[in-house]
Amino acid sequence: MQLRIRLFGEMKCPKAYRIRDFLQRNGMRFQWTEIAGNEDAQLHTGLDTLQDTRFPVLKIGDHTLYAPTLAQIVHTVGWATVPAEPRYDLAIYGAGPAGLSAAVYAASEGLRTVLIERFAIGGQAGSTSKIENYLGFPEGISGAELASRARDQALRLGAEILLAAECVGGRIDDGNFLGVPDSGETVLSRALLCATGVEYTRLNLEHEERLLGRGFYYGAGSSEASLCTGQVFVVGGGNSAGQAALHLASRASQVTMLVRGPSLKSTLSQYVDRIGLSYNIEVKVNCVLTGIEGGASLEKILYRTLDTDQEIEVDTGWVFVCVGGEPQTKWTDAEQLARDAAGYILTGIDLLQKKAAPLPWPLERAPYPMEASIPGVFVAGDIRANSIKRCATAVGEGAAAVASVHRYLSSIH
Ligand SMILES: Cc1cc2nc3c(=O)[nH]c(=O)nc-3n(C[C@H](O)[C@H](O)[C@H](O)COP(=O)(O)OP(=O)(O)OC[C@H]3O[C@@H](n4cnc5c(N)ncnc54)[C@H](O)[C@@H]3O)c2cc1C
Repeated sequence: MQLRIRLFGEMKCPKAYRIRDFLQRNGMRFQWTEIAGNEDAQLHTGLDTLQDTRFPVLKIGDHTLYAPTLAQIVHTVGWATVPAEPRYDLAIYGAGPAGLSAAVYAASEGLRTVLIERFAIGGQAGSTSKIENYLGFPEGISGAELASRARDQALRLGAEILLAAECVGGRIDDGNFLGVPDSGETVLSRALLCATGVEYTRLNLEHEERLLGRGFYYGAGSSEASLCTGQVFVVGGGNSAGQAALHLASRASQVTMLVRGPSLKSTLSQYVDRIGLSYNIEVKVNCVLTGIEGGASLEKILYRTLDTDQEIEVDTGWVFVCVGGEPQTKWTDAEQLARDAAGYILTGIDLLQKKAAPLPWPLERAPYPMEASIPGVFVAGDIRANSIKRCATAVGEGAAAVASVHRYLSSIH
């Protein structure tokens, strides 16, 4: 039976937004009550004023939590934040599609498996309202639902999942891998899978949090793209922006690219001609997005032309920001992991390409598919160099990485 969960707070309170986002993305049904003044505060929570620093208030069953941390919420609903076992066969960091898939396959194939996630299950995919291109869901499926199904499956098969546990460090300890979540506990494992993905570089515009997913997006999720009508804006001048513009142009009547620099990036060469030939793509160079506005959803944007220093206002319901992502490798011992120029982790035969790989592969045997430059460390999903940034490929890589983990574990017996 699901616990009754109620959240009380101010609509524009960032803490309340984070808790709402966390509950929603973890598939936890809850009732949100906006507290508009002191009377509401007293009526619903017993606190005298809305200014009380104990807001937002979260009621979970019989428990009342004041301005709770995510770890407190996870603990109260009965989920784990600290490891139960002294040592695992496989520790997986990041519970996006790649990490969840690896957890399902590893646990079902008899490996003692733990999955460690800093925020909510589902990763980037969990933030999208509908994934339209995932095999087997002809009507599409929300990222949060796909993720919570995968979580239930992984738990049923015996994987352990630690939520609200950000890994802040990792090292090798006597042949084992030691991960350090921010709780201060340590996670010991014989093999490690890094599936910590990518996070889009944020513009931090006013109203961004409110309009995110309501016409304002990071990346060009295929699901949103297929729903676009009218004029659409794409912010960025690199590969992902070019791909997005071409993709969106097949649906929208007009796509306008806002490019900060004087031209499209040279790395975009493969798309420049196609963009030039598209009758409904316009490229505006030397332009910077400066504002977004709207009520329930995005209604207009403001951008500045750097040449003439003019601020221009345009009505639109769709903006896709594709200014590149940052691979989430800070927690790893990045010095020891060979990465490409953009920071994505190199694996498998890529490690043997002398020109591309900055660190020598240390063993006589060749690296297994998806094995990083530290033997026993595997990488799957968006964070892996040369991976295809899609849900289905992340899921496939998670499963394939587990096959390599088996080979590695039998090689060290
Ligand atoms: C808005 C949007 C819509 C999309 N729509 C589609 C679509 O329709 N179809 C499609 O195929 N693809 C879509 N994509 C792309 C797809 O979601 C990604 O390719 C996929 O999620 C990558 O999975 P991943 O597991 O590699 O990484 P991620 O999904 O990035 O997951 C990585 C996880 O690791 C966690 N993490 C990071 N650092 C740490 C740490 N130090 N400790 C613990 N945990 C950590 C993160 O919190 C995150 O949960 C979309 C992406 C976005 C952003």
